[in-house]
Amino acid sequence: MSAPTRSHGQKSIRASLQPRDLMDEAQVSPTSWQANVVTLFPEAFPGVLGHSLTGTALDKGLWSLRTTDLRRYGEGKHRKVDDTPAGGGAGLVLRPDVVAAALQDARGPGPMIYLSPRGRPFDQSMAQKLAAGPGVTLLCGRFEGVDQRVLDHFDMTEVSLGDFVLTGGEIAAQALLDATVRLLPGVIGNMASTEEESFSNGLLEHPQYTKPAEWMGRIIPEVLTSGNHGKVAEWRREQSEALTRERRPDLWNLYRRKD
Ligand code: SAH
Repeated sequence: MSAPTRSHGQKSIRASLQPRDLMDEAQVSPTSWQANVVTLFPEAFPGVLGHSLTGTALDKGLWSLRTTDLRRYGEGKHRKVDDTPAGGGAGLVLRPDVVAAALQDARGPGPMIYLSPRGRPFDQSMAQKLAAGPGVTLLCGRFEGVDQRVLDHFDMTEVSLGDFVLTGGEIAAQALLDATVRLLPGVIGNMASTEEESFSNGLLEHPQYTKPAEWMGRIIPEVLTSGNHGKVAEWRREQSEALTRERRPDLWNLYRRKD
């Protein structure tokens, strides 16, 4: 693989350049994991993904991000992307012809996902599956959502961030991308930390401590400073199990069934 150049990290939004053009037209390395996002708010990307580990990885070309501005595909002088819901009712629905044209251009390797409160709840195993593939194409909805026909036509998978309603899919898309990108090889220096954390073994993570040894009269559990690795591992597992049993009986039942 040739050395990745900065152009793969399309997060560089500079005042002197037009960020949308930069992000749409930048060359995408065929070898890195590709995120393609259709949104009415391309300027919201990379957003928080441009910082810390995911941002560094974007700069290094370990993954690439391309946004497609839905507004560009809108109709008429006002670039209209939505219309009133068939059957009446409040709000506006994104038009299938407009969304389809954008998706057709945006589409990259990997599954096509519509972020939606009706979707399958996103979880760590979905992040792992996505990270193992070549990339993902994400559609961010707005208003009342998207005309059903475009979802059926592209056989899109609906994925939800949880049982609540956001005003748009952008935050959900960034959460999905963050959880996925951090699992790509090389993004987190110490891969062991993604193997031990919450959900990766079906349990919530044990409590963490760091210096100082005593703070506000509270001390670090003695076993953690004992230097006995076997005892530390045992303590952590017990804590993980107790927390999972107490806080997430759903996960606990699944975990027990696996044993
Ligand atoms: N009328 C829709 C909600 C639309 S909210 C309904 O009741 O199901 C507008 C957009 O925000 C959606 O199209 C979707 O892309 C996004 N969105 C809202 N809540 C979400 C969630 N929990 N997970 C993922 N995306 C969500």
